[in-house]
Amino acid sequence: MSGGSQEEVVVVGGGLAGASAASILAGAGRSVLVIERDAEARHKVCGEFLSIEAQAYLAHLGIDLDALGACRISRLRLVRKRTLIEVGLPFVARGLSRKVLDEALLQQAEAHGARIFRGQVVRSISADHPEIHIDMGPDGVLVADSVFLASGKHDVRGVKRASSGAMNDLIGFKLHYRLTPNEQRNLGGAVEVVLFGGGYAGLQMVERDIANLCLVVSRHRFEQVGKSWGDLLNFITDECPHLGERLQNAEPLFERPLSIFQIPYGFLHAPDRCEPLGLFRLGDQIGVIPSFTGEGMSIALHSGCLAASVYLDQGRAAAIYHHRIRSDIRHSIRLASVLNQAVRHAAGQQAIFQLLRLWPAAMGHVTTLTRVQEASMHKVLVAP
Ligand SMILES: Cc1cc2nc3c(=O)[nH]c(=O)nc-3n(C[C@H](O)[C@H](O)[C@H](O)COP(=O)(O)OP(=O)(O)OC[C@H]3O[C@@H](n4cnc5c(N)ncnc54)[C@H](O)[C@@H]3O)c2cc1C
Repeated sequence: MSGGSQEEVVVVGGGLAGASAASILAGAGRSVLVIERDAEARHKVCGEFLSIEAQAYLAHLGIDLDALGACRISRLRLVRKRTLIEVGLPFVARGLSRKVLDEALLQQAEAHGARIFRGQVVRSISADHPEIHIDMGPDGVLVADSVFLASGKHDVRGVKRASSGAMNDLIGFKLHYRLTPNEQRNLGGAVEVVLFGGGYAGLQMVERDIANLCLVVSRHRFEQVGKSWGDLLNFITDECPHLGERLQNAEPLFERPLSIFQIPYGFLHAPDRCEPLGLFRLGDQIGVIPSFTGEGMSIALHSGCLAASVYLDQGRAAAIYHHRIRSDIRHSIRLASVLNQAVRHAAGQQAIFQLLRLWPAAMGHVTTLTRVQEASMHKVLVAP
């Protein structure tokens, strides 16, 4: 890569948010360069639960979930110790591994004309009004009119997310398993959410015969049970034998689980006058919703599509985009953060079980309130 080359739009990060924005901008004839750190698609820590909103964005972007082999999920089983409640989901969700989904979106962006540089890391970003400089270390410096910052949980020097006091004592783990045929049938078209002391886990089928176990646990509990994945799993399956049954004789498909530390659930970017003009923050760089909602991917896709539509309409108007995206996701993130605290503690878990027993429809209401609202989606999905 040559030093100092001038670009119209550089997208930093080719995950869901970055690839969706790149796809729309390139499809509209704009010159777009995506810089993605990973040389090839890889597994990411994620529950891989695609809400109905995420599915709508993916369809809008031309992604065919059936062709990719996504499974269908229509029931939720909430499990705590030896108690289980099953309710219907208010929509048919889909399960698909991020490795397959992220690659499909990036290929779609490329097919629309975006240039993708894989295996390149952006080291820092700085403003040199009216341009933005993107430092790629030994690979040189790029100069761009606009930057779409979609680096997910990874902050980039010069434009780090402000610390907002968001919760950061949680650790996320993910491991794919091949369940026995019997347990595959038992799990069926359901997502099973297991509440345990200090966290919660989700188990669901993704594609073919693969099930995804993804969980978050407080650092305190992780240290208390022995600081290893094996000890943690033993602790959870002792407390909740249901999960132990599901995983009995299951074959782990990674050598060790993927992990992520200090998840800033509840983070919402606040507008900052010092930020470079033309810097659009997408996905986890704009807001992080607790994962039990299964809505993070939908927010990432919404932000990518909204940022692209504002750019096509009004150019480098990042402030207008940030104002709109904040108002679209603020309430969901706040409510989900309060619920996330409750879900982690015994009293809150008991209260959730009681509520669902007495009022099963409560699940549908919570699901609706923690999602990107239809009106916000409509504006983006009908935009040219
Ligand atoms: C435990 C857990 C479970 C979750 N479960 C769900 C779920 O079931 N359903 C759901 O909808 N959401 C879920 N989420 C949320 C969801 O995973 C994220 O919100 C979503 O991945 C955000 O997308 P993104 O595009 O912003 O970031 P990412 O998908 O993380 O993409 C960022 C990309 O940027 C690249 N990158 C990073 N730094 C650089 C750099 N310096 N230079 C170049 N490239 C860079 C990375 O390689 C990556 O490909 C979960 C999150 C967690 C933590």
